[in-house]
Amino acid sequence: MSVAERLVVVRQRVAAACARSGRAPGDVTIVAVTKTHPAATVDEAVRAGIDTVGENRVQEAAGKKPAVTGTATWHLVGPLQRNKAADALALFDLIETVDRTALADRLEHLLADGDRIVPVYLQVNVSGEEQKHGVAPGEVADLAGHILDHCPHLAVQGLMTVPRWEDDPERTRPAFARLRELAADVGRRCGLAGLGLSMGMSDDYHVAVEEGATVIRLGRTLFGERGVR
Ligand SMILES: *Cc1c(COP(=O)(O)O)cnc(C)c1O
Repeated sequence: MSVAERLVVVRQRVAAACARSGRAPGDVTIVAVTKTHPAATVDEAVRAGIDTVGENRVQEAAGKKPAVTGTATWHLVGPLQRNKAADALALFDLIETVDRTALADRLEHLLADGDRIVPVYLQVNVSGEEQKHGVAPGEVADLAGHILDHCPHLAVQGLMTVPRWEDDPERTRPAFARLRELAADVGRRCGLAGLGLSMGMSDDYHVAVEEGATVIRLGRTLFGERGVR
Protein backbone atom coordinates (compact mmCIF):
# COMPACT_ATOMS: atom_id res chain seq x y z
CA MET A 1 0.00 0.00 0.00
CA SER A 2 1.18 3.52 -0.74
CA VAL A 3 1.38 6.18 1.95
CA ALA A 4 -1.62 7.85 0.33
CA GLU A 5 -3.67 4.66 0.64
CA ARG A 6 -2.61 4.17 4.22
CA LEU A 7 -3.51 7.76 5.00
CA VAL A 8 -7.03 7.18 3.69
CA VAL A 9 -7.44 4.33 6.19
CA VAL A 10 -6.04 6.45 9.04
CA ARG A 11 -8.41 9.31 8.21
CA GLN A 12 -11.38 6.96 8.17
CA ARG A 13 -10.45 5.57 11.58
CA VAL A 14 -9.91 9.07 12.99
CA ALA A 15 -13.30 10.13 11.64
CA ALA A 16 -14.95 7.07 13.19
CA ALA A 17 -13.29 7.71 16.57
CA CYS A 18 -14.39 11.35 16.37
CA ALA A 19 -17.95 10.27 15.58
CA ARG A 20 -17.98 7.94 18.58
CA SER A 21 -16.81 10.71 20.89
CA GLY A 22 -18.70 13.68 19.46
CA ARG A 23 -15.62 15.42 18.09
CA ALA A 24 -14.77 17.05 14.77
CA PRO A 25 -12.14 15.22 12.66
CA GLY A 26 -10.65 18.61 11.76
CA ASP A 27 -9.58 19.00 15.39
CA VAL A 28 -7.08 16.14 15.07
CA THR A 29 -3.67 16.80 13.49
CA ILE A 30 -1.80 13.82 12.09
CA VAL A 31 1.95 14.04 12.63
CA ALA A 32 3.71 11.67 10.24
CA VAL A 33 6.68 10.32 12.18
CA THR A 34 9.31 9.75 9.51
CA LYS A 35 12.21 8.54 11.65
CA THR A 36 14.41 5.95 9.89
CA HIS A 37 12.78 6.83 6.56
CA PRO A 38 14.53 8.86 3.85
CA ALA A 39 13.68 12.34 2.61
CA ALA A 40 11.85 10.80 -0.35
CA THR A 41 9.38 9.22 2.06
CA VAL A 42 8.75 12.58 3.71
CA ASP A 43 8.04 14.02 0.27
CA GLU A 44 5.70 11.13 -0.52
CA ALA A 45 3.79 11.83 2.69
CA VAL A 46 3.52 15.54 1.91
CA ARG A 47 2.25 14.73 -1.59
CA ALA A 48 -0.35 12.45 0.02
CA GLY A 49 -1.63 15.38 2.05
CA ILE A 50 0.43 15.26 5.25
CA ASP A 51 1.24 18.74 6.52
CA THR A 52 3.06 17.90 9.76
CA VAL A 53 6.17 15.77 10.08
CA GLY A 54 7.71 14.38 13.28
CA GLU A 55 11.27 13.29 13.95
CA ASN A 56 12.66 12.02 17.23
CA ARG A 57 16.35 12.74 16.72
CA VAL A 58 17.83 16.15 15.97
CA GLN A 59 20.82 14.66 14.16
CA GLU A 60 18.67 12.52 11.88
CA ALA A 61 16.42 15.46 11.02
CA ALA A 62 19.49 17.57 10.25
CA GLY A 63 20.66 15.00 7.74
CA LYS A 64 17.27 14.53 6.13
CA LYS A 65 15.52 17.87 6.07
CA PRO A 66 17.76 19.61 3.49
CA ALA A 67 16.77 16.93 0.95
CA VAL A 68 13.04 17.30 1.61
CA THR A 69 11.33 19.40 -1.04
CA GLY A 70 7.76 19.26 0.30
CA THR A 71 6.61 21.89 2.76
CA ALA A 72 5.50 20.80 6.20
CA THR A 73 5.51 21.86 9.81
CA TRP A 74 8.22 19.95 11.68
CA HIS A 75 7.71 18.67 15.22
CA LEU A 76 10.47 17.33 17.43
CA VAL A 77 8.90 14.34 19.21
CA GLY A 78 12.02 12.83 20.82
CA PRO A 79 14.12 13.81 23.83
CA LEU A 80 16.17 16.99 23.52
CA GLN A 81 19.56 17.54 25.15
CA ARG A 82 20.57 21.08 25.94
CA ASN A 83 23.60 20.89 23.67
CA LYS A 84 21.31 20.13 20.70
CA ALA A 85 18.85 22.91 21.49
CA ALA A 86 20.24 25.36 18.94
CA ASP A 87 20.12 22.74 16.18
CA ALA A 88 16.60 21.81 17.21
CA LEU A 89 15.46 25.41 16.95
CA ALA A 90 16.98 25.65 13.48
CA LEU A 91 15.19 22.51 12.25
CA PHE A 92 11.86 22.33 14.04
CA ASP A 93 8.79 24.57 14.16
CA LEU A 94 7.45 23.03 17.34
CA ILE A 95 9.10 21.08 20.16
CA GLU A 96 6.80 18.51 21.79
CA THR A 97 9.28 17.30 24.38
CA VAL A 98 10.03 20.12 26.81
CA ASP A 99 10.18 18.31 30.15
CA ARG A 100 12.37 20.36 32.48
CA THR A 101 13.08 23.95 33.39
CA ALA A 102 16.78 23.72 32.41
CA LEU A 103 15.78 22.85 28.84
CA ALA A 104 13.14 25.59 28.70
CA ASP A 105 15.70 28.09 30.00
CA ARG A 106 18.23 26.97 27.38
CA LEU A 107 15.69 27.43 24.57
CA GLU A 108 14.67 30.80 25.95
CA HIS A 109 18.32 31.92 26.15
CA LEU A 110 18.85 30.98 22.49
CA LEU A 111 15.71 32.85 21.43
CA ALA A 112 16.08 35.84 23.73
CA ASP A 113 17.37 38.35 21.18
CA GLY A 114 14.83 37.60 18.47
CA ASP A 115 11.15 37.99 17.67
CA ARG A 116 10.46 34.31 17.14
CA ILE A 117 8.13 32.65 19.61
CA VAL A 118 8.38 28.85 19.50
CA PRO A 119 5.34 26.72 20.33
CA VAL A 120 6.12 23.91 22.73
CA TYR A 121 4.34 20.97 24.31
CA LEU A 122 5.28 19.70 27.73
CA GLN A 123 6.09 15.98 27.76
CA VAL A 124 4.53 14.23 30.73
CA ASN A 125 5.51 10.81 32.06
CA VAL A 126 1.94 9.74 32.84
CA SER A 127 2.84 6.08 33.37
CA GLY A 128 5.59 6.95 35.86
CA GLU A 129 8.10 4.67 34.17
CA GLU A 130 11.64 5.13 35.51
CA GLN A 131 13.38 5.21 32.17
CA LYS A 132 10.87 7.43 30.39
CA HIS A 133 11.39 11.05 29.61
CA GLY A 134 8.82 13.54 30.73
CA VAL A 135 7.95 15.63 33.73
CA ALA A 136 6.05 13.94 36.55
CA PRO A 137 2.29 14.65 36.46
CA GLY A 138 2.50 16.50 39.77
CA GLU A 139 5.12 18.88 38.39
CA VAL A 140 3.55 19.89 35.06
CA ALA A 141 1.85 22.99 36.44
CA ASP A 142 5.12 24.20 37.97
CA LEU A 143 6.95 23.70 34.67
CA ALA A 144 4.19 25.54 32.77
CA GLY A 145 4.28 28.31 35.37
CA HIS A 146 8.05 28.62 35.06
CA ILE A 147 7.79 28.99 31.28
CA LEU A 148 4.99 31.55 31.58
CA ASP A 149 7.03 33.59 34.06
CA HIS A 150 10.53 33.24 32.63
CA CYS A 151 10.39 32.15 28.99
CA PRO A 152 8.51 34.75 26.93
CA HIS A 153 9.86 33.26 23.66
CA LEU A 154 8.18 29.90 24.34
CA ALA A 155 4.43 29.39 24.00
CA VAL A 156 3.03 26.40 25.89
CA GLN A 157 0.43 24.97 23.52
CA GLY A 158 -0.20 21.54 24.93
CA LEU A 159 0.86 18.39 26.71
CA MET A 160 2.40 15.30 25.13
CA THR A 161 2.88 11.76 26.38
CA VAL A 162 4.31 8.39 25.38
CA PRO A 163 2.51 5.98 27.73
CA ARG A 164 3.73 2.58 28.78
CA TRP A 165 3.36 0.16 25.87
CA GLU A 166 0.44 -2.25 26.20
CA ASP A 167 -0.53 -4.94 23.72
CA ASP A 168 -4.19 -4.13 24.27
CA PRO A 169 -4.73 -0.45 23.36
CA GLU A 170 -7.73 -0.30 25.69
CA ARG A 171 -5.28 -0.59 28.57
CA THR A 172 -3.65 2.66 27.46
CA ARG A 173 -6.97 4.53 27.72
CA PRO A 174 -6.50 5.57 31.38
CA ALA A 175 -3.14 7.18 30.53
CA PHE A 176 -4.77 9.19 27.76
CA ALA A 177 -7.60 10.24 30.07
CA ARG A 178 -5.03 11.22 32.65
CA LEU A 179 -3.25 13.54 30.22
CA ARG A 180 -6.57 15.17 29.33
CA GLU A 181 -7.38 15.74 33.00
CA LEU A 182 -3.90 17.12 33.62
CA ALA A 183 -4.27 19.56 30.74
CA ALA A 184 -7.57 20.78 32.14
CA ASP A 185 -5.98 21.21 35.56
CA VAL A 186 -2.87 22.97 34.27
CA GLY A 187 -5.05 25.14 32.05
CA ARG A 188 -7.08 26.26 35.04
CA ARG A 189 -4.15 26.82 37.34
CA CYS A 190 -1.96 28.63 34.82
CA GLY A 191 -4.64 30.41 32.81
CA LEU A 192 -3.82 28.49 29.63
CA ALA A 193 -7.00 27.83 27.68
CA GLY A 194 -7.38 25.09 25.08
CA LEU A 195 -4.16 23.17 25.60
CA GLY A 196 -3.56 20.56 22.90
CA LEU A 197 -3.06 16.86 23.64
CA SER A 198 -0.39 15.00 21.69
CA MET A 199 -1.06 11.34 22.38
CA GLY A 200 -1.69 8.17 20.43
CA MET A 201 0.58 6.24 18.08
CA SER A 202 0.00 3.58 15.40
CA ASP A 203 -1.48 0.94 17.71
CA ASP A 204 -3.71 3.12 19.86
CA TYR A 205 -4.52 6.39 18.10
CA HIS A 206 -8.20 5.48 17.79
CA VAL A 207 -8.40 5.24 21.59
CA ALA A 208 -6.39 8.45 22.02
CA VAL A 209 -8.78 10.34 19.72
CA GLU A 210 -11.75 9.08 21.73
CA GLU A 211 -10.01 10.47 24.82
CA GLY A 212 -9.44 13.87 23.25
CA ALA A 213 -6.14 13.74 21.34
CA THR A 214 -5.63 16.80 19.14
CA VAL A 215 -2.29 15.53 17.80
CA ILE A 216 -1.59 11.90 16.93
CA ARG A 217 1.92 10.76 16.03
CA LEU A 218 1.97 7.99 13.46
CA GLY A 219 4.91 6.09 12.05
CA ARG A 220 4.37 2.41 11.25
CA THR A 221 0.73 2.64 10.24
CA LEU A 222 1.69 5.15 7.53
CA PHE A 223 5.09 3.84 6.47
CA GLY A 224 5.23 0.18 7.51
CA GLU A 225 7.58 -1.41 10.01
CA ARG A 226 10.86 0.36 10.61
CA GLY A 227 14.14 -1.40 9.90
CA VAL A 228 16.86 -1.43 12.54
CA ARG A 229 19.06 1.62 12.64
C1 LIG B 1 8.35 6.62 16.76
C2 LIG B 1 7.47 7.51 17.53
C3 LIG B 1 6.10 7.60 17.22
C4 LIG B 1 5.44 6.76 16.13
O1 LIG B 1 5.36 5.45 16.55
P1 LIG B 1 4.55 4.35 15.68
O2 LIG B 1 4.29 3.30 16.68
O3 LIG B 1 5.45 3.95 14.59
O4 LIG B 1 3.32 5.00 15.19
C5 LIG B 1 5.32 8.46 17.97
N1 LIG B 1 5.84 9.20 18.96
C6 LIG B 1 7.15 9.15 19.27
C7 LIG B 1 7.66 10.01 20.38
C8 LIG B 1 8.00 8.31 18.58
O5 LIG B 1 9.31 8.25 18.90
